[in-house]
Amino acid sequence: MATDIDKFVHDQLSVWPAVAAKYRALKSARTRTIPVNGMLVTLQSNPGRLPIFDHGCPLCEENYMEHQHTLPFEGRKGRKYNILVNRAPIFPNHLVITRDIHAPQTIWHRFPDMLDLAAQMENYIVFYNSPNSGTTVPQHAHFQACPKGYMPLERAAERLLHMVLAGETPSELEFIDSVRDAQLYHYKRFNRGIFMLRAQTSKSMAKMFYRLLDCLNLLAEETEPRFNAFAYCSEGEYRALVIIRSASKPQCYYAKGDAHFSIAPGSAEMAGFVVVPEVGDFDRLDAPVLEQIFEDVTLSEADEKRLLWRLVRTQPRVEVGICAAACIGFEIISDGAGPQTVSYREGKIDYNGALYDELVFEAVTISTLFAEPSFVIYGEEGERRYAGTLKFIVDSGKGQAVHI
Ligand SMILES: [Zn+2]
Repeated sequence: MATDIDKFVHDQLSVWPAVAAKYRALKSARTRTIPVNGMLVTLQSNPGRLPIFDHGCPLCEENYMEHQHTLPFEGRKGRKYNILVNRAPIFPNHLVITRDIHAPQTIWHRFPDMLDLAAQMENYIVFYNSPNSGTTVPQHAHFQACPKGYMPLERAAERLLHMVLAGETPSELEFIDSVRDAQLYHYKRFNRGIFMLRAQTSKSMAKMFYRLLDCLNLLAEETEPRFNAFAYCSEGEYRALVIIRSASKPQCYYAKGDAHFSIAPGSAEMAGFVVVPEVGDFDRLDAPVLEQIFEDVTLSEADEKRLLWRLVRTQPRVEVGICAAACIGFEIISDGAGPQTVSYREGKIDYNGALYDELVFEAVTISTLFAEPSFVIYGEEGERRYAGTLKFIVDSGKGQAVHI
């Protein structure tokens, strides 16, 4: 896939002069580095990044530009994506991976797709902006990707997780939690709310990732927390970076006169690669202004403390009896088997003719933030839907359904 991608980009640019010119201009773009909170941040002067206004959703197929090529990518459960060359690049070979249908930006269900992409594009890092965290097209689900190594925080993660793999414990990282073969670390430098994850399997990585998001507060009007996420594969394992945010834009973005800077932080900026679309801003930006920009969009100290506390606290499992009867009808929504029954027989639970002391149907994803029904109970009061794990036990001569 990696060579496919490089060929795809090459073929695309050879027939698309307007965009090829932008990639050429990128090669001579002015850059400078400034130390900010212990991180050597890169500034890139990029006037080509100013928004292009077309009509309609730019990520919908019917609005693709003339000469635009696509490379298909298949996600989980039949979700299809189109890989496109980014028309307003920050990086060489800057890609947009967009859903083939017009559906809102959300990471729910899609993080495993992001991990699959990362596994297939070994020289690339895949990234995601949540709806209020730097994306210009929140109405259409998409990821982005670029070759590895451009973002300072990414390079820090690579160095630190390599040390962890070698059995060392870098002082910049604090171990927070683990789920099976996945581990979550808090990065104690640069800005607040930065987490680094590593896992052997995409399944454990996804569990760890959703557990982190579960510990966040959701603003009433929003569908998911504000964050930027990165995923890539390295040294035979999955690695991810998650940066929890507060505001979408810093105060200077809205200021007038000399106090105004057109900086709208997305994934790249939060990882220490700051794109400067206004030429006049490039020389005026300095460490104090950048520190303030990061401060404005970063999680507050109190919110970070609360998040860390929730992550290390052991979560109590709550079990509630929901239905007791000689025979109970139920359905596990994800398994496609349709309605089934269990019954009480000889002091045990009878399921498909076999007898059990206890029968457990684990919830597919343990998430309270994105809770959606995982099973149905057909009781006397009709059908009731529940999110979580379903267990059947024997209680006082009956079958008892328990919701965990
Ligand atoms: Zn669209």
